[in-house]
Order: sequence, then structure tokens, then C-alpha cells
Amino acid sequence: MGNAIKEVFSGQGFEMKLDEPLAKHTTFKIGGPAPVYIEPKTHEELQNIVSACKANSFPFFIMGLGSNLLIDDKGFEGVVLHLRGIFIQTQALNQGNKVVIKAGAGVTLPLLIKKCADNFASGTECLAGIPGTVGGALIMNTGTKYGSISDKLSSVTVLKPDGGIIDLRKNELSFSYRHSSLAQYIVLSAEFLLDFAPNETIVKKITDYMLNRAETQPLSVPSAGSVFKNPPEKKAWQLIDACGLRGLKIGGAQISEKHANFIINTGNAKSSDVKELIETIQKKVKENTGIMLEPEIKIL
Ligand SMILES: Cc1cc2nc3c(=O)[nH]c(=O)nc-3n(C[C@H](O)[C@H](O)[C@H](O)COP(=O)(O)OP(=O)(O)OC[C@H]3O[C@@H](n4cnc5c(N)ncnc54)[C@H](O)[C@@H]3O)c2cc1C
Repeated sequence: MGNAIKEVFSGQGFEMKLDEPLAKHTTFKIGGPAPVYIEPKTHEELQNIVSACKANSFPFFIMGLGSNLLIDDKGFEGVVLHLRGIFIQTQALNQGNKVVIKAGAGVTLPLLIKKCADNFASGTECLAGIPGTVGGALIMNTGTKYGSISDKLSSVTVLKPDGGIIDLRKNELSFSYRHSSLAQYIVLSAEFLLDFAPNETIVKKITDYMLNRAETQPLSVPSAGSVFKNPPEKKAWQLIDACGLRGLKIGGAQISEKHANFIINTGNAKSSDVKELIETIQKKVKENTGIMLEPEIKIL
């Protein structure tokens, strides 16, 4: 399949990388190669790539910052797309007593938050310190106890499975804890409707949230953030901790000493080490509490 993908795409004039190691593009620093890796820069280019994949039945997926992904060491036998060009643009507009921030799906969350703060727009501070893109965050409905990306969303522009582009208002979508109805689409861009606030107030909130994150999370080592979703009324890290699993190591993967719901790559972790650790945690927590923890990270 890999050679067929390379052959088809080599003849189409796309700027691309062949056999690109995906470990370079994930925060876990884990993941084997993809035969074809492309950074589309326009809607048309993205539409053409997706339609070529569909015409040839080639698997494909959009990779944001790879901060919620565990990719197999064997790699992904398909086309990986990382949005650039028009997809990393932002725009701010004043609308009465509100600020509208438009952001392409490839805009990173730190850049989105900075754009908001620079334009006195409050409402995205809750995302401070999360290393994703607008597209990935909308698919995951990324957030914290202070709020999530969907809170101030007003509309999104998406590529539909049939190749058409449409705008969807927030009331046409559903969002819940780490879930959104956008998963069937490719997110192209989003608009957020935010409240005016003094820049110092916004920056203070961002700083406080980032400091808290640095105190409680292992940010200097590769990971994909929280591995499991919190079950209703419970904290996954507490359930894992109660099983005495903090610090447990399999191969190069370890349950963080700092945050028991983080698995860290201590340097040479294989995807199989992380998967084994995930299964061990699920088994022990199930035995101890009857609760089956559901992964928050996407495993490919
Ligand atoms: C240190 C650390 C801390 C974290 N803290 C948090 C936290 O506090 N809260 C939280 O919710 N998450 C957290 N995360 C997880 C992660 O950062 C978020 O889920 C993030 O929003 C994922 O965005 P991404 O661009 O990296 O997506 P990726 O990991 O690249 O992709 C995630 C999914 O989204 C899909 N996707 C990406 N872009 C698009 C698009 N444009 N259209 C359609 N599908 C798309 C991918 O195909 C994949 O299925 C943390 C991660 C790390 C490493």
C-alpha cells in the first residue's frame, strides 16, 4: 500500500515528504513513518488531496500538533496532512461590545490565546498551556476545569465527507466532555465571540493557569497529556494512584511521578510500551474499583 500511495501522489505535483517519521510530529515523540506527509496550504489543495485519497481508498488523517496521539511504531499506512498556509492565519474584528477572533484550524492554541490577549478578548485563557491546534482542540473539545474551546465558539467552517465546504453555527453542533460532533468533518477554521477585558486581567489568568500546570504536570518530558478521560464524578489520576501505580515503568514508558494520569516517554519508549502500560492501568483500576478507564488519547 505504501508504494502505491507514493506512486499516486508523486504524479500529482504536491509538495510532500516521503516516509516521514511521525515521531517528529507527536508530543510523545513516538510513531513510525507515513509513506506520504503533506502540508496543504489552501482549501483547494486540501480538497484535491482528500479526493485523491478517497478515489484510491487510501487512509488519511489530519495531524494537528500530535499532542493527543499515540501512533504505532510501524507508522501510519496512509497520507498524513498537517495544515499550513491559509490554515495558520488569524484575524480579529470588533463587533459592538464583543471581539470576533477568526482562526485557521492549524493555528496553535498558544497563538490563539496570544491573539485574543493582544485584542483584549477574554474567553480562551482556560486553554493556556495546552499544546494543540484549533482543529485538534475542536475535535477533542479540549479544555480544563476552567472551560473548554467550545465555550466561546460561534461557528466553524468544515470540509464535509462529500468534499463540499460549509459553515456551521455552534447551535448546529454538540459538544460534551472531550467530545464533539465535528469528528465527521475536517475543520478548516473557526470563529470565536469573546468579551472585552483589560489585557492585564487576561495575561494574569494565563500566567496563573500556566504556573499551576507547571506545578502539577510533567511538562519537560514527552507525553500526550492526560491518557484517560475522567469517569463521571471521579478523577482518573486518583483512581490510578489508589492502585499504587504512580511511577510504574514498562520499557521506556512510565506513569509520571508528578501526575498519575500522564504516561511519559523516558527517552526510548515504544508504542507497545505505552499500550502495555495503558492496559495494565485499565486492568488494575477495573479490579480495584469496577471502573473501566476510557483513553482520552487517540491510538493509531
Ligand atoms: C502536556 C500536555 C498537556 C495537555 N493538557 C490538556 C488539557 O489540559 N486538556 C485537554 O483537553 N487536553 C490536553 N492535552 C491534549 C491535547 O493537547 C489536546 O487534546 C489538543 O487540543 C489536541 O490538539 P492537536 O492539534 O495536537 O491534535 P492531534 O493530537 O494532532 O489530533 C487529535 C485528533 O484531532 C484530529 N484533528 C486534528 N486537526 C484536525 C482538523 N483540522 N480537522 C479534523 N480533525 C482534526 C486528529 O486527526 C486526531 O484525531 C494535553 C497534551 C499535552 C502533551
